[in-house]
Amino acid sequence: MKLNRGEILNTANGKAIKIIDFLGDGGQGEVYLVDMENHHYALKIYKDDVTSDFWYNLKNNVTKGSPSESFLWPLEIVEVEDKGIYGYLMEVRGKEYKSFVSYLNGKNHFKDVRTMLDWCIKLCCSFKLLHEKGFSYQDLNDGSFFFNPDNGDLLICDNDNVCANKKNLGILGKMRYMAPEIVRGDIDKSTGLQQMPDVHSDRFSLSVILFMTLCMGHPYEGETMKNYDIIDEIAELEMYGKNPIFVYHKLDKSNRPVRGYHHSLIRRWPLIPMYLKEAFHKTFVDGLVDRENSRTTEIEWIKLLSEYRDSLVTCPHCGYQYDYFLDKRNPRTHCPICNQIKPTLSVLTVGKKKIVLEPGARLYQPHVDKYSSLYNEKIGEVIVNKKNPNLWGIRMINNDEIVLTDSSGNHKIVGTNGVIPIIRNLTIKFNETIEGEIR
Ligand SMILES: [Zn+2]
Repeated sequence: MKLNRGEILNTANGKAIKIIDFLGDGGQGEVYLVDMENHHYALKIYKDDVTSDFWYNLKNNVTKGSPSESFLWPLEIVEVEDKGIYGYLMEVRGKEYKSFVSYLNGKNHFKDVRTMLDWCIKLCCSFKLLHEKGFSYQDLNDGSFFFNPDNGDLLICDNDNVCANKKNLGILGKMRYMAPEIVRGDIDKSTGLQQMPDVHSDRFSLSVILFMTLCMGHPYEGETMKNYDIIDEIAELEMYGKNPIFVYHKLDKSNRPVRGYHHSLIRRWPLIPMYLKEAFHKTFVDGLVDRENSRTTEIEWIKLLSEYRDSLVTCPHCGYQYDYFLDKRNPRTHCPICNQIKPTLSVLTVGKKKIVLEPGARLYQPHVDKYSSLYNEKIGEVIVNKKNPNLWGIRMINNDEIVLTDSSGNHKIVGTNGVIPIIRNLTIKFNETIEGEIR
């Protein structure tokens, strides 16, 4: 521990920071709970000297600002030269956030599949915003991500290692999360230098994290693990760099998950929709060869995961949330977990989108606006009438006037924060251009 409780740091910019508590050791640095101007922050200070490039980049990140509220972004540089203290302030991570590591080892769970998908979509949106700001993530690993099990909120930490596309500060993530070309240290043909992390390698890592979240396994950890006594650096270089074989490769079946060892993966893979399986296959098979064109992009993931989220139905018997549709044409008939008959629900069709209307299902801005990128902006939620539980409706939020037309041609207007009744064959005119129908 470099600092003591109660110690006051007088920073280069004239502010006083009081050390309240030691929060943890992150390898690269130590993190403290501090008080500055009557507000609590987390202070990260580096254990070793930082390079001028690293320090310059960190300052630049502070100036550029956070891409979204999901990032625990460096807010202010802390520099106390005579004590050799170099670091930065960020907001404190709330106790409600659990580490992604604790999810992977089964200690913490998402409340349900819907909440897990909320988190996944937020993760994709955050990567999209990060890339739009010209950054790439670089140091991707399971220790950087946190989730709120109850509402699917996301926090991304360690953003001092975020830096401009194609640059690198000498800090690479764990091989398990890295794109193979970065693991191998390939030469970038356009520069003649070693391939540096960029949007395309980030996309690969994002797909790995999504796969791990949805399937509780790793895309390249299957039967070939048996070839190694221990998983050391040489084994990792082979598995994630030189010879990665997707566990569900359609043609090469040499690295399938092993029964009894990859139990979670074997159980979960069949539960995810076919379009997600295709997107994973594309990234983890074709994306090994064509890094720029064959890796599922953030926006593609957002659309596919939103489709999954729209189609969820909760099993009344076992509580599991599964995809209402078996494929594009056919609904399922039974719960894939307990095999009980699937409940019959109304479905709202808006253009090509289908939203299964079970209590708790939500409408989002892109459902009624083709050009919206507010993928998590809730505009409505399916509710149950408290007095008559047989009456269901969609409670709208901050909406403009909505025109309903029933099967007999009768019209009704739904005003701001009103409720659309869930009735079969109801046509809903959300706005000038978007119309939906409940079937
Ligand atoms: Zn069930």
